[in-house]
This record gives sequence, structure tokens and C-alpha cells, in this order.
Amino acid sequence: MVPSPHKIVWNNCLNIIKDNIQPSSFSTWFEPIVPLKLKSNVLTIEVPSHFFREYIEEHFIDLLGHSIRKELGSTAKLEYCVKVDSHSKGMPLPQQGQAQFQNKTIPFSRINRDEVASPYVIPGIRQLKIDPQLNAAYSFDNFVEGPCNRLARTAGLSIAEKPGGPFNPLFVYGGSGLGKTHLGQAIGIEIKKLMPEKIVLYVSANLFQIQFMDAANVKNKLTDFMHFYQMIDVLIIDDVQDFAGKPGTQNAYFNIFNHLHQSGKQLILTSDKAPVDLKDLDDRLLSRFKWGLSAELQSPDYATRLAILEKKCYNEGVEVPREVLEFIASQLTTNIREIEGTFWSLLAQSTFNKQPVTLKLAQGIIDSLVNTTPREVSVQDIQKTVCSYFGITQDVLLSKTRKREICQARQIAMYLSRNMTKNSLSSIGSMIGGKDHATVLHSCNTVCNLMDTDRMFRQYVTDIEKRLKNG
Ligand code: ADP
Ligand code: MG
Repeated sequence: MVPSPHKIVWNNCLNIIKDNIQPSSFSTWFEPIVPLKLKSNVLTIEVPSHFFREYIEEHFIDLLGHSIRKELGSTAKLEYCVKVDSHSKGMPLPQQGQAQFQNKTIPFSRINRDEVASPYVIPGIRQLKIDPQLNAAYSFDNFVEGPCNRLARTAGLSIAEKPGGPFNPLFVYGGSGLGKTHLGQAIGIEIKKLMPEKIVLYVSANLFQIQFMDAANVKNKLTDFMHFYQMIDVLIIDDVQDFAGKPGTQNAYFNIFNHLHQSGKQLILTSDKAPVDLKDLDDRLLSRFKWGLSAELQSPDYATRLAILEKKCYNEGVEVPREVLEFIASQLTTNIREIEGTFWSLLAQSTFNKQPVTLKLAQGIIDSLVNTTPREVSVQDIQKTVCSYFGITQDVLLSKTRKREICQARQIAMYLSRNMTKNSLSSIGSMIGGKDHATVLHSCNTVCNLMDTDRMFRQYVTDIEKRLKNG
């Protein structure tokens, strides 16, 4: 695959920048930037907000200028395209979508252009034009279906065909990097496709909160804020757990929710926790979240992980040896964002170092980037952690007692020993009170089945696994 020139140039710049700043600054301020085009010596990059642009100019302009000049020569120019301006404009309220040009004297020329207008209202005309803040890449086409997301995906598709129907609100929850944002956006995109006249708005809970705070302090602005949100047909709020501990924002959303729901408008929420586990959220709000459908996004199984990687290859038009895809899918099991990150690094490294995509390269990336090299965990570590998690002694764990809780703890210890160590079934068995290999295998299967059917049980296993991984 030959990547486009703007991507090559930008990636070379990133390599220089990366060597000169802290990794955390790099991931915060440079990873979100998307190179858009390169025309003669003008490189256009997309930044998420004005605030973001101002910040990088204030802090990294010399480095940025140096790296771009190194790539494109002394006449190099950088053009910013600000995609969504969340901070300086606050809420998506009246604003004419005019391009603004600013010029400061900086070490190299810069053209600054707002390409995507924020939502605006034309005064005196009831017709409302709102940028739904949707990213075309997050479509249903790109959302691979698997057992981990089937319910949520199907509900999402059904909402897209008939917003305001039985699944209202739709509450999508699951861990980080499992596709909540993607799915919320996909529903919005699909609705806009099928019903362009619908007013769809995607907004993170965080941005909603910033807008609310901004409005709450200024006369009349709060009314505008409420009116604005009450005009939406499909309101997608991402990461609603961020409302925790913010009663004012919750109250505003509660009123908006009621208004929209009563008018048959569709509400979609995503959260990193199930409604029952959302502490610090108003009960009135929580009870409403349960009115419609709650659907969980779970960690993808191997086949889905592989299908996601294959889809990426297809979309990017690249060929990656199947064994490499299988390797990534087998190593990164819990977070799709990490799987994607590894995929991108692999392509980037192979292109820039002119190396073929090999298993070895993939292994190196997984080790360095995601740092998922499993910590050396022993059967003893596992038994100890299981005991401390359930508050039992090791003697009890290894005893012959058939008490249900103890049996389950024992089975979890065997299951984790099998998944996290290289010990054979029979050695795992002998270390847990002289069981044979068939008993260990049976225990592992029991744990798998229980994890599928019992949410609480699944939580135990994931918690213990996390503790072990984090040392
Ligand atoms: P979350 O909001 O749950 O943290 P995201 O929606 O941001 O996760 O997803 C992380 C990444 O994984 C995104 O790039 C997204 O496109 C991708 N992704 C998640 N689920 C799927 C899926 N089922 N098929 C394809 N890509 C997915
Ligand atoms: Mg998200």
C-alpha cells in the first residue's frame, strides 16, 4: 500500500515531534490530529477545536514549524481545519457559519479556516440547521456485528428505521473501547441517511455539561439552551456517566429528556456502566433510563476481533497476512480501540521502515505500544488473588468442601490458571488440591458458561483478572 503524500508527510512530522515531547502530551495533542491534504507546500491538518489549535500553537509551534519545514522546505505552510469547536463556542447555538481568518506572526505561514460550521439558527426563520456532529467513519457499515454487540446493534438499526419507537431511550453500556461512541454515531448517521429532515445531534455528556455551565451563568442563555435542545429529534448523549456529581446538568437533561420523550423524540445514551451501577446519578433520571432498552456491548470474541481487522484491511485497501491478523486478534482481547491502534501502528511502521508486515513486527508493536505482554502470573498468584477477592483462606480454597461459593472460587482459579499461565491442565489440577485434568477442563467450561449467563459472576472473573494483570 502506498499511503497518500499528506499522510506520509504528517507521519514523518509526528516522528520528529514524538522524539521531542512527553508521550502523554503526544497522545493528547498530536494523535487526534488528522492530516487532510497536501497541496504544493501547504499541509492541511484537522484539529478537533479552536481551543485545541490555540493550545498547540501556544505550546508546540516551534517544534511543529521545525518538523514541517524539515519535510516541505522553508516555504512550508500549515493550514488548520477546525472540525468541531467545543470549548470556545460552548453550546451549538446561533452562529453564522462564516469562515474566520486569523493571522498571527508565527515562524511559518498559516491559514486558518473553519471548514465545518457549527450549528446555527437563522434569525427569524424557524428552519433550524444543525450540524449533527457525526463522523461518517462511524457508520453501521463499518460496525462489525458479533455476539458481543448483536442486541445493541439490532436495536440501533431498528431505531434508525423508526426513531421514537419502543426502544426509547436506548441505553448502550460497556467498557472502554467497545464501540459505544461508534454505535451511537452509527444510529445518527443512519437516521440522517433515511430521514435527512430529522434534527439529529450527537453530543458528549462532557460537552453538554460545559454548554450548560456556560449558559447557566448568563441571563437568557439558559432559556436558549433549553429551547435549543428541545428542538432536537434524535439526541445522542455519549458517556452519560460523566453527569455524575453534577446535579444542575442532570436536572437540565432531565427536563430536556421529559420534553423530548413526551413529544415522541428519540433519546440515545451511552455509558461505561449499566444503569443500576451508575452511582451519583439522580434516581429520577436512572428510572427513565430504564424505560426503553438497555443493551450491553461486551468484549468481542475472537471471530469478531478478526472480522474487525479484516474489515479495516478492506476499508484501507491493504493486504496483511492472515497469520498476522490472527495473531493480533488472539493477543488483544478486550478493547477494540487497542486492536485498531495496533493495526494502524503496524501499517505505519511497515510503510515507513519499508518492512513487510510480519508476525515479528506485530509482536514488537504489541509489546511496545499496548504493553499487553502478560505479566508473569503464577498459579499461586492466581490462587492468592482469588482468595483475597472472595475473602477466604487458601486452605479453604484447596479443601474438599463442596460449598457453592467455594466451588465457584476454585473453578475461577482453575479457569484463570488455564488462561493466564502456561501450566498444563494436570499441573493446575494437582496444585489445587489434587484434581485431575478432566476436572480442571470441566471447571473451565463451567466458568465460560456462567460468564455467559450470570452478569455478577462475569464481573468477579473480570475483576480478578484485572487485579492480576495490574499486579
Ligand atoms: P467506546 O466509545 O466504547 O470507548 P468507541 O466507539 O470509541 O468505543 O470504539 C473504539 C474503536 O473501536 C473505534 O475506532 C471504533 O470504530 C472501533 N469499533 C468498536 N466496535 C466496533 C465494531 N463492532 N466494528 C468495527 N469497529 C469497531
Ligand atoms: Mg466513547
